[in-house]
Amino acid sequence: MSGILYLCPTPIGNLSDMTPRVIETLKQVDLIAAEDTRNTLRLLNCFDIDTPVTSYHEHNKASKGGNLIEKLLSGKNIAVCSDAGMPAISDPGEDLVKLAIKNDIQTVPLTGPCALTTALIASGLPTGRFSFEGFLSVTKKSRFEHLNDVKNDTRTLIFYEAPHKLIYTLRDMLDIFGDREICLARELTKKYEEFNRTTLSEAVKYYEENSPKGEFVLIIAGKNKDELKEEQRAEKPSAEELLKEYETEELYGKELVKKVAEELELPKREVYDLYLKLQKK
Ligand code: SAM
Repeated sequence: MSGILYLCPTPIGNLSDMTPRVIETLKQVDLIAAEDTRNTLRLLNCFDIDTPVTSYHEHNKASKGGNLIEKLLSGKNIAVCSDAGMPAISDPGEDLVKLAIKNDIQTVPLTGPCALTTALIASGLPTGRFSFEGFLSVTKKSRFEHLNDVKNDTRTLIFYEAPHKLIYTLRDMLDIFGDREICLARELTKKYEEFNRTTLSEAVKYYEENSPKGEFVLIIAGKNKDELKEEQRAEKPSAEELLKEYETEELYGKELVKKVAEELELPKREVYDLYLKLQKK
């Protein structure tokens, strides 16, 4: 019988966030696949866990994945841990889960620390609908493509960012999103935890003068719904233009009004009144 792949979150700063269930699981499995073996060994020492550890990271995941799957198929239980936080979220683990599922291996997720949700719940920005965007690419073209892709998203946006790239990211965001509310969540669960709830333009000014230190999650307000509607309306042709453009011997009257109203998302009555007015001219 195959073993089980356990997905074990680890603290993102505060050791007390290690859950009893994660400790128990890490003690019981046959092997721990860790993104950073040195970091994980330090953590294991704190909790008297002496389970063997092997590396599984971005640069060896293609070759190592198959090897771990073979072990699981032979009945070994394996836990996967990232450097910190929730494995498989902007971390290796995602590919191993896919491989495990493909091989009918049971995967068991454990709950625990995750930087994005920890930052979001204290940001003060809407939590009802959000989109996790991970890290932006380092190449200018794909960064801009990514930001342009989400610039009209009305959901709260969440990004991970390294301190040395923060100022470039904030400038690019201001450029593409325009000025918006942002919460910069820094050093979560650590001694110098900080939430800078401000705007993109103020954040650019601030971090141009104060060099950013520590780890950051950026929570950005989604596009304002009214502004989006206004912009979309301005981009669309007017109802009058469409009524004139679409009117033919086959398409006229109520059918024409229906088509134009649907396309412009306008009330049929409004388009019909306009249609009657145009007929009288
Ligand atoms: N898988 C982890 C998770 O979701 O919890 C995240 C791993 S990702 C490689 C690392 C990024 O997570 C950092 O660059 C930062 O954006 C964010 N992060 C991790 N720990 C953090 C902390 N204590 N405070 C703020 N951001 C943190």
